[in-house]
Amino acid sequence: RASAQKPEEVIRRYMEVVSAVPDEDCIICMDQLSNPSGYEAGSPEESSQSIGPGSVGKFVRCGHTLHMLCMLAMYNNGTKDGSLQCPSCKTIYGEKTGTQPKGKMEIYSIGQSLPGHPDCGTIQIIYSIPPGIQGPEHPNPGQPFTCRGFPRFCFLPDNDKGRKVLELLKVAWMRRLIFTVGTSSTTGEPDTVVWNGIHHKTEMMSNLSGHGYPDPNYLDNVLSELASQGVTEDCLRA
Ligand code: NAD
Ligand code: ZN
Ligand code: ZN
Repeated sequence: RASAQKPEEVIRRYMEVVSAVPDEDCIICMDQLSNPSGYEAGSPEESSQSIGPGSVGKFVRCGHTLHMLCMLAMYNNGTKDGSLQCPSCKTIYGEKTGTQPKGKMEIYSIGQSLPGHPDCGTIQIIYSIPPGIQGPEHPNPGQPFTCRGFPRFCFLPDNDKGRKVLELLKVAWMRRLIFTVGTSSTTGEPDTVVWNGIHHKTEMMSNLSGHGYPDPNYLDNVLSELASQGVTEDCLRA
């Protein structure tokens, strides 16, 4: 899963060194860019590609500037999956992956229509994740995690937009972005499998919970939540 690329190479792939350092602060350490980053440089034996504390980098697409060593420290603190996210504007470089535990995503079709989508049937997604032991990417490695309310049943209208959302959810599932291990904000339970910011509709015939239908904005909202994780229509063309 974790990419074999050296962290320094990942930074260099998506940031270019700027020679004229702008009179701005680094968004990570809050110190001026003209001062060196406070983070340690790489070990001397890696010095051929190591990044110096004075290096200021600029993201290739969004153009935001920060200390390259600060960005390297942030990368090393995460899942080290070969992707970077600009801390200023959240632009994603490469393919962001998450920490969702192993499980199963199944898809069924239901004849009945959802409230607000009278002209089509329904897609049902069933997520199953069994309890297990947390890996190094989780909050408490080696400790068990629980799985409450699984299997979880989710619903989409079976129309063009709903099917597009389904395809993007499949990409998000493969990239381990749908669930994570953490503390449930609903129950307060720690070390449990929780939703990870891509909202799902778990109630089919009403919207008493706020997680049901009708909800005319739902498909657009979930498309933008997917996009903020780097999952867009481009992923389907590739
Ligand atoms: P959470 O409570 O930490 O919330 C994370 C996100 O999930 C939030 O954005 C929240 O809006 C959303 N969310 C909360 N309830 C949801 C629901 N019913 N359907 C769809 N999205 C929901 O995340 P969590 O602990 O994974 O989710 C809590 C939900 O999980 C509960 O409402 C329930 O549906 C289910 N659950 C069931 C049991 C059970 O024993 N049956 C136990 C725990 C949780
Ligand atoms: Zn910095
Ligand atoms: Zn940016």
